[in-house]
Amino acid sequence: MARALVAGAAGFVGSHLVDRLIADGHTVVGVDNFITGDRRNLDHLQAEPRFHFVESDVSRDLPVDGRVDRVYHLASPASPIDYLKLPFETLYAGSDATRILLERARVDGARFLMASTSEVYGDPAIHPQVESYWGNVNPIGPRSVYDEAKRYAEAITMAYHRYHGVPTRIARIFNTYGPRMRLNDGRVIPAFGAQVLRGEPITVFGDGSQTRSYCYVSDLVEGLYRLMESGLTLPCNLGNPTEKTVLELANYLRSAAGSDQPIEFRPLPEDDPKQRRPDISRAKAELDWEPKVGFDTGIAATMAYFREALAR
Ligand code: NAD
Ligand code: UDP
Repeated sequence: MARALVAGAAGFVGSHLVDRLIADGHTVVGVDNFITGDRRNLDHLQAEPRFHFVESDVSRDLPVDGRVDRVYHLASPASPIDYLKLPFETLYAGSDATRILLERARVDGARFLMASTSEVYGDPAIHPQVESYWGNVNPIGPRSVYDEAKRYAEAITMAYHRYHGVPTRIARIFNTYGPRMRLNDGRVIPAFGAQVLRGEPITVFGDGSQTRSYCYVSDLVEGLYRLMESGLTLPCNLGNPTEKTVLELANYLRSAAGSDQPIEFRPLPEDDPKQRRPDISRAKAELDWEPKVGFDTGIAATMAYFREALAR
């Protein structure tokens, strides 16, 4: 059994990863500064002897005692409205925090996994996106604080692998959804989900023809775990290839809830990618991984969580 450090443990994905590691018998040190996370995501672990929590900004300091065997770096604002509000924190999460966590992995002889993103492909000219594609990123646009920080994070991760021999992994995570997403985090599923439940107009940006492909969180966590335990040092896409336009998503959620609120079209944010779908051939071949949870099942579980969150 490993002793794993999870940076970003109080976040949406991080807290599910912690649950998975604990369920498998590992010991986990979770680190978070709650900049976009929520303590409640870890409340159920308060009495868990194999879970320990440290509050810290991993861009500055990593006050974790004892050797660790695995370092998962998930600490970063992830939703566009979060990273546009927190540009410097986002840049430092990709740069300084990645360096500090890689250095810890080097000193401890641990494996390191970087939670990168499909945003490294920018507004992709190749569809679906395959890992060999270098991307189409605006280096000075508003999204660059996130996209370029993650691209730098991938570069320093590969440098630690090449020059220091650290066993590193890079997960390029595509849009993921599920319980524990913040209702107000601005990402499309919580945004539309909350609007449907509150009976408010659904805010579609642009004409809604842009596409995304949505992966349920338990599938992603399985992929992250398998990637960490694999020998794959090249980047690996993790996502669900089932692609939908934003308008299709709005209509799906409306009809699933039996509601008929209007759609309100709003301006498309700058540099919003027009299409996104992962090519998951590498994950299938190297990790024997593919998503298992269908959209209907995943959305039902997520909407049930949003209902509870609204009632709180
Ligand atoms: P999230 O905002 O829910 O979680 C991120 C967590 O990191 C939060 O708890 C936050 O407080 C913490 N954090 C941020 N900066 C920190 C710092 N300097 N020190 C300590 N803690 C810090 O986001 P998420 O959706 O769970 O995303 C997790 C990771 O996965 C992120 O790195 C994100 O870029 C990546 N990712 C997520 C998606 C997705 O669809 N959810 C897609 C691509 C990549
Ligand atoms: N989007 C939208 N209305 C919203 C929030 C998002 O139409 O209220 C669109 C957004 O413009 C993008 C897509 O939904 O095209 C996915 O947005 P999200 O913020 O979830 O993720 P990302 O852009 O990072 O893929």
